[in-house]
Amino acid sequence: MNILFAVSEALPHVKTGGLADVAGHLPRTLAARGHQVELFLPLYREIRKNRLNLEEVARVEIPMGGEKLEGIVYRPTAGDPGLTSWFIGCDPFFDRPRLYGPPGGEYPDNGARFIFFCRAVLETVRKLGLAIDLYHAHDWQTGLIPVYLKTLYRDLGENSASLFTIHNLAYQGIQGKEIFPLTGLGWEEFTFEKLEYYDRLNLLKGGVVYADLLNTVSPTYSREILEPEFGCGLDPVLRHRADCLYGILNGVDYEEWNPATDPLISHRFKPGRMAGKRRCRETLLNELGLPNDPATPVVGMISRLVEQKGIELVLELLEKSYRFNCYFVILGTGEAKYEQALGDCALKFPDRIAFRPAYDNRLAHRIEAGADLFLMPSRYEPCGLNQMYSLRYGTIPVVRAVGGLNDSIDECEPQHNRGNGFKFIPYEALALAGKLEQALTMFRKKPHLWWKLRRRAMACDFSWSQSAGRYEELYETALKAKKTAAEKP
Ligand code: ADP
Repeated sequence: MNILFAVSEALPHVKTGGLADVAGHLPRTLAARGHQVELFLPLYREIRKNRLNLEEVARVEIPMGGEKLEGIVYRPTAGDPGLTSWFIGCDPFFDRPRLYGPPGGEYPDNGARFIFFCRAVLETVRKLGLAIDLYHAHDWQTGLIPVYLKTLYRDLGENSASLFTIHNLAYQGIQGKEIFPLTGLGWEEFTFEKLEYYDRLNLLKGGVVYADLLNTVSPTYSREILEPEFGCGLDPVLRHRADCLYGILNGVDYEEWNPATDPLISHRFKPGRMAGKRRCRETLLNELGLPNDPATPVVGMISRLVEQKGIELVLELLEKSYRFNCYFVILGTGEAKYEQALGDCALKFPDRIAFRPAYDNRLAHRIEAGADLFLMPSRYEPCGLNQMYSLRYGTIPVVRAVGGLNDSIDECEPQHNRGNGFKFIPYEALALAGKLEQALTMFRKKPHLWWKLRRRAMACDFSWSQSAGRYEELYETALKAKKTAAEKP
């Protein structure tokens, strides 16, 4: 299959969140499985700085309201087999210090930037005559791709299908309707059934309404978003398209996250040879200035500090940390109020809590390796990656049973030799505390059961090849659905 990925961030080029992990690994895995993938990204300043050897391959003119803006299309001089990365250059839009805006904010013209990007991608396909079977767009930034394939670029959409993946429904790219003319679409598209949302332009809704098939990054999240609690205002539209909505759990990169080879951790380990994990634990506690009592379990957390991640619950828990006989090791950046409150807790309980307000990949690896348990009490979680890294490192997740956390973690049932972690349901500190206590008790009092639990956790397989196989099936379904629709009289 010839697959086009249009996405606003992808590893190894740029990353602000989990989207970049997916858009980095899925195309590579699909290429390795014999497909041809065209990956389109904006040419951000950060990508230019990395000094890839890029060659200019085309120039495209995009009408934006009254004026025309030029996009310069680049490609690396040496490509990977099966995978070509394309970069759309437009310095007024993309030569900026950050991808989407200053910390905690947005560039005011983000709508215009990504309208331009979507059109430039399709204009390039048309100009270069690329043969595409499947257009795969991701999140609000590329929500217009499926729209254009059925409107202004219908010629490209005729023999192809589109899949729109929602990585996080909370971010919808909602814009003032005054920028609608920049899309080049007629006002007949600005209706309740299409792109209009409370008299504003909703770019994610475009993808939801127009794509041939939709998916989210876990089966549970694909069901949750049909309900008002998780639907972020779009649940009626999603219910309307529920027949076309699927869920595929993301994979994780086991080359980067492998305790047997990880160069960022102090000692290596694997199932059956776990002495290294004990040493990693010692190193971690030493580095963070915590005492090292081998009988006291270490609870880790690595997270963006935003409401979604359940920081409120963790703070309630930490206020009472003297009641838990464990160490808390927390790494994360985000909202100032959470950084402040976590810092205060660490000051209050210096021999129990270590908090590092930083983005630090090395420390993230060392926490995964050195901790005994890992906390993810999210309010909602489309997929989540850290719980899957934790499993690989024998660090037992304690999670809220939502989204991808619910799909990747099975409740521990020692009597049946089943399960890989602990799950609680109500979004309440008491529920989290009860579950954590249960896990801590098993750690302390039933070491043989803990040992078995850890072995089951480490044997779980969430590799990209599993997920890529499911995406292949979905692409086939999308193409078949498209063909059947075309054959209808
Ligand atoms: P989300 O994409 O919602 O932030 P995920 O769990 O899907 O959550 O992915 C988060 C990714 O970012 C993981 O790879 C995690 O290790 C990493 N990460 C988050 N915060 C930090 C941090 N402060 N330092 C290092 N890595 C972090």
